[in-house]
Amino acid sequence: MKGGEDKCLRCARCCYAKVILDGEVYYTDIPCEFLDVKTNLCRIYEDRFEKNPECLSIEEGTRLGVFPADCPYVRDIKRYKAPHTDCDTAEMGRLYLEED
Ligand code: SF4
Ligand code: SF4
Repeated sequence: MKGGEDKCLRCARCCYAKVILDGEVYYTDIPCEFLDVKTNLCRIYEDRFEKNPECLSIEEGTRLGVFPADCPYVRDIKRYKAPHTDCDTAEMGRLYLEED
């Protein structure tokens, strides 16, 4: 969701896998396979929805609550529920891999 979009701060937070526990979204430390973790840029940005069916549009990501609270796409939305940022992302990553 980063790259050429004007508002994006390129934090790449939304491009890490998430887990849902009891209806709450948690970040993991597992980046999308297409994320360049050095630049925080998507390596397939132009074709991301074709090449990665799991990549969400801004609208989908907003509805599902995958953006952090300070992301410009959601920070002005009242009652937006952001993922937890105070979790152990490595532990969440283990849970994510167990789900597969
Ligand atoms: S969370 Fe928001 S600012 Fe950060 S990369 Fe995703 S779209 Fe960009
Ligand atoms: S394909 Fe992966 S790295 Fe690219 S925008 Fe989507 S989630 Fe982020």
